[in-house]
Amino acid sequence: MNDTNHQSDWGNVATGSVMDRLVSLSKRRGYVFQSSEIYGGIGSTWDYGPLGVELKRNIKDFWWRTMVERRDDIEGLDAAILMSPKVWEASGHIDGFTDPLVDCKNCKHRFREDEIDPDKEPRCPRCGRGDLSAARQFNLMFKTFMGPVEDDASVVYLRPETAQGIYVNFLNVMNAARQKLPFGIAQIGKAFRNEITPGNFIFRTREFEQMEMQYFVQPGSAGEWLERWLEERNEWYRELGIRHDKLRVHEHGDEELAHYAAAAFDIEYEFPFGWQELEGVHNRTDFDLTAHERRSGKKLSYFDEEAKERYVPYIIETSAGVDRTLLVCLVDGFREEGEGKEARTVLRLDPRIAPIKVAVFPLVKRDGMPEMAIEVHAALKRRWNAFFDDGGSIGRRYRRQDEAGTPFCVTVDGESTSDGTVTVRHRDSMTQDRVSADRLAEWLEDHLS
Ligand code: ATP
Repeated sequence: MNDTNHQSDWGNVATGSVMDRLVSLSKRRGYVFQSSEIYGGIGSTWDYGPLGVELKRNIKDFWWRTMVERRDDIEGLDAAILMSPKVWEASGHIDGFTDPLVDCKNCKHRFREDEIDPDKEPRCPRCGRGDLSAARQFNLMFKTFMGPVEDDASVVYLRPETAQGIYVNFLNVMNAARQKLPFGIAQIGKAFRNEITPGNFIFRTREFEQMEMQYFVQPGSAGEWLERWLEERNEWYRELGIRHDKLRVHEHGDEELAHYAAAAFDIEYEFPFGWQELEGVHNRTDFDLTAHERRSGKKLSYFDEEAKERYVPYIIETSAGVDRTLLVCLVDGFREEGEGKEARTVLRLDPRIAPIKVAVFPLVKRDGMPEMAIEVHAALKRRWNAFFDDGGSIGRRYRRQDEAGTPFCVTVDGESTSDGTVTVRHRDSMTQDRVSADRLAEWLEDHLS
């Protein structure tokens, strides 16, 4: 049964139930599973199933195409997760990458101090009691040891952001790729944060992936580049098919700014649990390169041939979460629609990122139909992730693909074997087109881009 009479931005489903519905759809269809589920799970890590891994790859590919392949001024990098601990000393993470941790003495819940409403009497967000410890700083970096000896000298950290791998490779990349300022370095990779209060499904986890780009500029032009990148990154989410009215930009006030930033903006999305950050666009000044110069003793400055001056570049950073973007795609596309027999759950994913592009169904198992459907499927499979389904009624098969977010379903029916045409059904409008099987690939090419 739907939570009907609750028309919301997600159709029949009430805003408060969207996340529960999505978590269960994600498991049912193979998007996201709880990590180590058979052992009762582990705090806030998730596994991506067959559809989830495709969606994730498609999002990353779309980012990489936009940020690296289509531009001449950005180069790619894949730096190691484990880096010299000196990197984290220099960057300020060892001393400063902390969150204020508060304990509730009543229910033992641990939470971040900023979860307490500053305008009200301090209370535990779980049990509502006011018997709280003072806040103490908790470092979010995961620590481990390199090599067989577990002592202070062998401590290494799992990186909490991919950015530092880019900074320490700034000159390597610039020289190898023969770039001049302004130019950028882009990287997609895992990051780890021992978050005090992870939650909201894959929104805040302890292991996640980032898509980061660091753009190196002449200091005087940093403000202008910050505005340009903010605009570009906002546009990227719209191109991804995200509803425009669910996106907004939040500028950090002085009290919110990170120690390294001169100015910072968050691109936010309106989740069922409120407006939350999706991506940060920051002016990190020359903080990081200067800190690494000082700690390593190696010059990380740039000689500007045109201006005939040497300076440490300023850095404009665009830092997005892969998992958070994936959650936005799922949340934004999720709908429960229709009534009674017509009721359906649908994921309106942009066709370019949908895990399965097209599903092929033989209507019944006779008159050469399965053979023709098998051929159609095999031909499509050469180019796209195409799915074959001959189980259950056509209605059921449509419903399964609607939930998987598949934009097109092709039915091979009684007429197909005689006139060589098939029916293509559109996921969102549920309208149908009759298309010649010979022209199907061409038709899909037009509709999937
Ligand atoms: P928050 O204030 O939400 O903790 P942050 O400001 O520390 O986030 P950044 O350091 O700017 O986040 O990280 C850049 C991006 O990386 C975020 O916009 C988000 O998309 C992603 N990200 C950061 N932390 C997490 C996390 N714990 N789980 C999933 N994604 C994350």
